[in-house]
Amino acid sequence: MNFHQYYPVDVVNGEGTRCTLFVSGCEHQCRGCYNQSTWSPSSGEFFDQAMEDRIIADLNDTRIKRRGLSISGGDPLLPVNLQSVLKLVQRVKDECEAKDIWMWTGYSLDDLTEAQREVVSYVDVLVDGKFEKALADPSLPWRGSSNQVVHRLT
Ligand code: SF4
Repeated sequence: MNFHQYYPVDVVNGEGTRCTLFVSGCEHQCRGCYNQSTWSPSSGEFFDQAMEDRIIADLNDTRIKRRGLSISGGDPLLPVNLQSVLKLVQRVKDECEAKDIWMWTGYSLDDLTEAQREVVSYVDVLVDGKFEKALADPSLPWRGSSNQVVHRLT
């Protein structure tokens, strides 16, 4: 998997102070997408073991307390991303006590494959659905258009 951005301290992508990772690769091609540079899975940088370890260390850093990890993109549930994202979310739940995971995806929760569902089983809040330009509303919390849903899964 590749990624575009990592913010070790972020207060705008989910509730509380968080670590946020923007992965590469998205197949939804939503009209009006603000992140078109992330569409290619080969764009950005390789998400290596050191990057994964850094996120775990940041979440466990007691000097700046983080509430959890946010994973956006691109699309973390793009099939080629699933193996890396699954390993990351499993480590967060195994190694970071009481940290929540927020995730943004263009897929709909009801249509997820078994492999995507396995990843989502570790996610606390899933914001799903394609961005619909005609339904765009900047006043909506955590989502860009009103068709998207904030699912609180835990
Ligand atoms: S799901 Fe998100 S990143 Fe992918 S095309 Fe739609 S708005 Fe862009």
